[in-house]
This record gives sequence, structure tokens and C-alpha cells, in this order.
Amino acid sequence: MSNTQTCDTGPPLSGSPTNGRFDVLVIGAGLAGCTAARLFALHDLRVALIEHRADMTAFKQLCTHFIQASATPTLRHLGLDRLIEDAGGVRNGLDIWTRYGWTGDVAPLDENGEPAFGYNIQRRTLDPILRRLTMDTPGVTTLFGCGVRSLVKQDGIVSGVDLGGSRAGVVSAPLIVGADGRSSPLATLVGIKPASSENSRFGAFRAYRGVALRRGTCSQMWLRGPETGYVFPNDNGVTVIAYMATKDKLDGFRANPDEALERSMAGFPDAPDLASAEPLGSALLVKDYLNFRVVPAKAAQRELKRSAAQGGLRHRLMCVATRSSRRRARFQTRSS
Ligand SMILES: Cc1cc2nc3c(=O)[nH]c(=O)nc-3n(C[C@H](O)[C@H](O)[C@H](O)COP(=O)(O)OP(=O)(O)OC[C@H]3O[C@@H](n4cnc5c(N)ncnc54)[C@H](O)[C@@H]3O)c2cc1C
Repeated sequence: MSNTQTCDTGPPLSGSPTNGRFDVLVIGAGLAGCTAARLFALHDLRVALIEHRADMTAFKQLCTHFIQASATPTLRHLGLDRLIEDAGGVRNGLDIWTRYGWTGDVAPLDENGEPAFGYNIQRRTLDPILRRLTMDTPGVTTLFGCGVRSLVKQDGIVSGVDLGGSRAGVVSAPLIVGADGRSSPLATLVGIKPASSENSRFGAFRAYRGVALRRGTCSQMWLRGPETGYVFPNDNGVTVIAYMATKDKLDGFRANPDEALERSMAGFPDAPDLASAEPLGSALLVKDYLNFRVVPAKAAQRELKRSAAQGGLRHRLMCVATRSSRRRARFQTRSS
């Protein structure tokens, strides 16, 4: 049975079954955090999953929902593949167009010689399913509505985090996992500053119902010079259309992103007929999405060296990343 507490309404942390001490703290209940928390708990560890949003149904807005086939073994290990299929997730493949034409309609094979596939499923569907699965995992205590305010150190070594919220308090564990997104506040707290650079590209995204596909439920992608186009069929008949290009084409999108997106997609060979599909809301235009590159700061390196010099297994702090979360670093001491 899960143990869920909300910072705003829950009892003091000292009243938790583990008295605020866990084997692992996972900061952030997005896809990375929920995955890490469930995997640790499946290995009989006591995990606190800490998330500053209180809403269990929250989901990431900016995503095109294509889970690559390489993730399927992990989805199976989590027990998430069945839940995705039950929720209408689409087994995916990808046809890619380049100036040489379409890639062949031949699926790659997995290690058993079977066609490999991933899933397309909307984040509004996927995120709450995975969060519920993780919450219901024995050994996971979820602390929702609790943001990490600062790191707690013992003898100069990170030993826990100080949580905000009306039920503020300290939780401790020998392993702390930062899964708090690409702009990771936790990384900042340990002194890791990413190098950022301007993204020379922009993107436009819109969902439709009733898009006719080129082949079965296969996704489509066009690579034409600086332009990229995508068609991603998802659960519940919703297809996400995405167009990305260099910023010299951005002005054409400012006045009417809906019209510009459909016009740009129509320019690709064998493009779907979006005029006969039902748009679900307006196009989302993403003009500036910074690139991040991890540069471990001197402070983090100093801490790492000091921990190593003290010898033995002390405390570990590590960060995990999913596909686009590049602002990450490993920061851990080793057992001597
Ligand atoms: C345009 C676009 C398209 C994409 N398309 C795809 C795709 O098709 N397929 C794919 O696999 N990936 C795709 N991605 C990437 C994917 O969306 C991300 O890699 C993934 O969602 C990141 O998950 P995460 O759990 O690492 O971070 P997040 O989803 O950002 O989760 C971080 C969590 O940490 C919480 N948090 C933050 N700070 C604190 C704190 N101090 N205390 C407590 N909690 C905190 C946040 O509330 C949040 O819930 C796309 C990304 C973009 C931008």
C-alpha cells in the first residue's frame, strides 16, 4: 500500500513511518523521478519521492509523446507497458523522408528477432499513470506539494534535503537522486552551473483528431534541409503535428501560427491533409528553448574530492536524466 503525504496537509515528517529517514530520496516526480523511485523500491529500498507540485494529474505540456523502442525493456520492467496499452497507447514505428525518399517499411528487430516498437501516448495520459503506479509501489512514500529548499550537510557531506511547505522538515538518505528537470534547482544547489546557448531553431506544435496516416499507425518524419516535420499518432485518436526550422522562418509564424504550421507541413512530400482533420486547440509556438550543457562547477568537484579523500561510502548525490534533460551531473562518492 502506498504512503502518500502532502506537505500542506500532512503530519510532521517526524511522524512518517521512517521518521524522515529513507534509503533513497528522489527529487521530482516526472518520468525520470517516478521511474527511478519505482526501480529502487522494486529492489526493496525505502524511497521518498518528493515533488513540489501537489496535483497528481499534472503532466508535461511540451512533448511530442514518442517513446523510442529502446525504452520498451524498461517499460516492461516497470510494468508500465501493459498500462500504456490499456490506456490506448499506440505501438509505434517511424517512417522517415529525406531527399532520397522514404525509408523502407522494415521495422528493426529486438534481441528475440521480433519487430521492435515503442509507444506513442499523450503526456496527459502517461504522466498520471506512471505517477499512480509509482505511488502504489510498496516502499515508496510520496511527498507531494513539497519543494526542496536547501541541501542538508553533515560533516560537509550532503545527507538530506530541507523541504518547504507548511509541513517543512528535513528528510535524509544516503542516496539522493535529482530528477527535477532540465533546469534542475538541485544541480544549482550543489554548485553545478550549465553553460547555455541560444537555440537557433524554433518549433510549432498542434494536436488534431482524424489525421489520415501514410501507413498504419506509423509515425512520420521529414528531414528537408533546415526543416523537420513530424506526425505522431497517439492514444484516443489524437495526432500531434510538429514542425521545426531555423529562426529565419520564424517571422512567417508570428501572425498566424495555425495557418503557418499547416502551410509548412503541406509543403512536405506525401504530407497528411490537415485541412480535413479536426484541430484540438491552437498551435503552440516555441520561439526560445535554450540549449544546456553541463559544466561541473569547481565547488562540486571540490566536494567530490573531499568526499573521496575521507574514504568509505559516505553519501551519494546523483542526477538522472531523460532524453532532453541535459543539465545533469553525476556527483557521488565511492565505497572504498
Ligand atoms: C519539444 C519537446 C519534445 C519532446 N518530445 C519527446 C518525445 O517525443 N519523446 C521523448 O522521449 N522525449 C521527448 N521530449 C523530452 C521529454 O519531454 C523530457 O526528457 C522528459 O519529460 C523529462 O522528464 P524529467 O522527469 O527528467 O523532467 P520533468 O518532466 O521536468 O520533471 C521534473 C519534476 O521535478 C519537479 N521539481 C522541480 N524542482 C523541484 C524541487 N525543488 N522540489 C521538488 N520537485 C521539483 C517538477 O515539478 C517536475 O515534476 C521532448 C521535449 C521537448 C522540449
